[in-house]
Amino acid sequence: MISRIEQRCIDKSMKMTDQRRVIARVLSDADDHPDVEEVYRRATRIDPRISIATVYRTVRLFEEANILERHDFGDGRARYEESPNEHHDHLIDMHSGQVIEFTSSEIEALQREIAKRFGYRLVGHRLELYGVPLTSGDDPDQK
Ligand SMILES: [Zn+2]
Repeated sequence: MISRIEQRCIDKSMKMTDQRRVIARVLSDADDHPDVEEVYRRATRIDPRISIATVYRTVRLFEEANILERHDFGDGRARYEESPNEHHDHLIDMHSGQVIEFTSSEIEALQREIAKRFGYRLVGHRLELYGVPLTSGDDPDQK
């Protein structure tokens, strides 16, 4: 079975080694946003001969081919996910580190509007929200 990311590599005529194939599978199977260390941990469970250097190199290669997206969620570690077909933004729970994916048509429209105001056509954006869970005493509308 060819993983989604491996298929995207094949479509771009990238040379696939066994180790690249394993890393492609790990990233295709991830439903979170793992950093390189985590990708390395998962990949070595499948093939213990894979080195962290190979994971770094392969992840960079996939990123340069626009197969992976890199994120910075504020803790200084680069996180990766397969480039999504549909754009989404991220809300990061500062307590647990959990990452919630969301889309907002209002935010998308507002960003286009702001770009236009300055004479630009918007071609992309990055948005990360950082939050802590509401507690019962919190008023969510309180600034
Ligand atoms: Zn995401």
